[in-house]
Amino acid sequence: MKNNHKCESMFLAQAWFENNERGWILNINRTATEEDLEDNHHLEEVGQTICQIAVNIKFCPYCGCQLNTSKDDVVPKFILYDFSTWR
Ligand SMILES: [Zn+2]
Repeated sequence: MKNNHKCESMFLAQAWFENNERGWILNINRTATEEDLEDNHHLEEVGQTICQIAVNIKFCPYCGCQLNTSKDDVVPKFILYDFSTWR
């Protein structure tokens, strides 16, 4: 089974794929800008991860490559990790 996918369009973004027991997952980080630091005093530096989303996928949304070859349907779901506040 294929366990990784390198997509040219993702090299400049904080985005990556993983293939685990949950299937193929697209992870994307949102990182802090100067404007985010001005709006949120919990943030410490530009480039800090504010949140991460993990979405289950069947195809790469950027190049169209089929990643999940299972015949089972991929039910849309996501996990949101919010790092913008102290918990
Ligand atoms: Zn791709």
